[in-house]
Amino acid sequence: MIRTIVVGAAGRMGGTVIRTIHEAEGIEVSGAVERSDHPFLNRDVGEVVGLGEIGVSLVGDIERAIEVGEVVVDFTNPGAALRSLEVSARRSVAAVIGTTGFTPQQMDKVGELVKKTRCVLSPNMSVGVNLMFKLVGEIASILGEEYDVEILEAHHRFKKDSPSGTAMRLGEIAASALSRDFHQVGVFGRKGVIGERKPQEIGMQAIRAGDIVGEHTVIFGGLGERLEVTHRAHSRDNFARGAVRAAKWVITQPNGLYDMGDVLGLK
Ligand code: NAD
Repeated sequence: MIRTIVVGAAGRMGGTVIRTIHEAEGIEVSGAVERSDHPFLNRDVGEVVGLGEIGVSLVGDIERAIEVGEVVVDFTNPGAALRSLEVSARRSVAAVIGTTGFTPQQMDKVGELVKKTRCVLSPNMSVGVNLMFKLVGEIASILGEEYDVEILEAHHRFKKDSPSGTAMRLGEIAASALSRDFHQVGVFGRKGVIGERKPQEIGMQAIRAGDIVGEHTVIFGGLGERLEVTHRAHSRDNFARGAVRAAKWVITQPNGLYDMGDVLGLK
């Protein structure tokens, strides 16, 4: 049994991960962590996520759970996720980080920490989206400069970061396939008399509404035609299943930083 510590256990993704692990074979929840002022601390986490008692109490600090785990699964926020990775690295515990919204400086820190442990970090754990990552790179390099790249994403009203980590990754992949620097060519929303679209631009648009789980479309617009690649998540289950697959995979890997492309053998 792979002993797993879930951080952000009472959140939307944390709860889904706990329910998914509970149904999966060869893996179990051995620790559950929330922020130190969470109202459900000390309660049985199975009860918190609707499973009934599973004998694991929700604790307010990862240090109090790390000893009981072989792998940490984190869906929180960038600051908390960095702490999860810091504590994991200190104890050589593997990590799966689904949290999004890291700054470049925070990513540098991740790069340092994975010298001491192995970590899968992916803004989107779904199989379909990771196949989309691969296809978008291939399509961009085949279509080349003649096609405008625009990326649309839609998420629920509670999402805190924008554009989504997945949309950012899609932008980086398209930019890299076209030998562009995404930080220079990414255009985040448009307003006013801003003139014609520059050929190098990669446009990014974010919609926030209701309970949309997550939708991403990459448009390749040419003169006389356009090609669109769309992924729609219907529930959070696919992300949680991907995270469980990553947890089983990462514990046997050498130290370093991996993504879902590695886990799924898409590289
Ligand atoms: P959420 O707000 O429902 O859950 C986050 C949880 O983290 C909350 O319960 C919060 O109390 C907890 N938390 C905050 N600080 C903490 C700390 N210091 N220690 C422990 N727990 C702490 O959010 P969500 O919808 O579950 O999303 C969480 C993250 O996962 C976001 O960054 C989101 O973008 C990302 N996400 C990733 C994927 C993927 O496939 N990689 C899929 C969905 C969401």
